[in-house]
Amino acid sequence: MTVIRAIKGTRDILPDEVAVWQRIEGAARTLFGRYGYREIRTPIFEETELFARGIGTETDIVGKEMYTFDDHGASLTLRPEATAGIVRSVIENNLMNTDPALKVYALGPMFRRERPQKGRYRQFHQVDVEALGLTRPAIDAEVVEMALGYLEACGLQSYELVLNSVGDAKCRPAYVETLRAALRPQVSRLCPDCQRRTETNPLRVLDCKVPEDQPVIEALPRIADHLCVECRDHFAEVLRELELLGIPYRLNHRLVRGLDYYTRTTFEVTSGALGAQNSVLGGGRYDGLVGALGGPDISGIGFALGMERLVLILPVPEGETRCDVFLIPLEDAAFDETLRLQRTLRGAGLRVLMDPEGRSFKARLKMADKLGARYVAIRGEDERRKGVWSVRDMKGSAQEDVTESRVAEHLTERIHG
Ligand code: ATP
Ligand code: MG
Repeated sequence: MTVIRAIKGTRDILPDEVAVWQRIEGAARTLFGRYGYREIRTPIFEETELFARGIGTETDIVGKEMYTFDDHGASLTLRPEATAGIVRSVIENNLMNTDPALKVYALGPMFRRERPQKGRYRQFHQVDVEALGLTRPAIDAEVVEMALGYLEACGLQSYELVLNSVGDAKCRPAYVETLRAALRPQVSRLCPDCQRRTETNPLRVLDCKVPEDQPVIEALPRIADHLCVECRDHFAEVLRELELLGIPYRLNHRLVRGLDYYTRTTFEVTSGALGAQNSVLGGGRYDGLVGALGGPDISGIGFALGMERLVLILPVPEGETRCDVFLIPLEDAAFDETLRLQRTLRGAGLRVLMDPEGRSFKARLKMADKLGARYVAIRGEDERRKGVWSVRDMKGSAQEDVTESRVAEHLTERIHG
């Protein structure tokens, strides 16, 4: 029989790896709660139209990366990112009515048909944070601060924060035209993608990594010189607050998001440890999105973090132990006793295992060792006659007899105490 394998670009998170995933999920819940965020869970598939409108048809995501399928005449798509679905839900459920400053986060899988490589998968996972209805620069600074606090809570020590402002509906269109005008005379010197982008989405040219394009791109007009007063003031205040909080950053005038609805503050956290796919998280303001999806004209800001990439760069945690107490009944007569003790100890919160296959004593000790058991409790003929369990401390190798009526308490105290 041929063996069926996982689909290209997807991967299993195996039991040996899962501890770090649970840790970063737990860190998100704990930290985001301190800032007033609550979890939201939206469906994994939505109407294709939601992403076309919410992300923009000129983006790589909508243009070529979406998993779209026909469902009896309806066009559906596996979500490539979380924001559009969350905003749809906020509008549909009128969440803004009860909570004019809405802070939500989501964790879960996203789907994009990309070329799989290190740190780039077709099913990957994001931590996603959204704050809706807050317009002042203070929330921009808070979201950035929380994103970095999250990385640190996960144990990431080295990273870089990069910031830019991409203007708003008032000043960006003029800048985009300026950019297009500057690009047109040189368009034949650019890569095919950028030739296309010059007409469809010139901002994306700034994002191009093709080496031959760089001299042209470096000489292009910069958005910082074309922001309206309001956008300039907003950005200056965000930077001032970050400085006030002691958060180092680097400005990069070429940081533009691939998504159309981003306005003003745009940010990214990168890590050199990731190599080519160096972006750990990306975010920014999207003041036009809620309106574009048919909701009220309210602002939004958030970020999305790639969990696979974070896991790749976190320090490797120590091997987790899986067992507190390993029970070894040495004779059939001890079996019932062992089942009862196992149940009592598990009820007290201990991780308790035994060998259900009844292997040799030596094999069972080896098993206990492999599982990282702190204690082994043995019950043989001798112990039964004396009314005790023989308890071995696997660290110190000391062994003592403990009266059967006290053994549960004895072990619980040692593990929890
Ligand atoms: P990139 O430039 O690496 O393609 P992006 O701009 O497409 O990133 P976003 O849409 O902003 O990424 O998504 C936010 C984060 O999600 C990224 O910073 C990255 O950590 C992660 N991410 C995006 N695409 C993938 C993928 N295919 N596989 C794994 N992680 C991803
Ligand atoms: Mg991408």
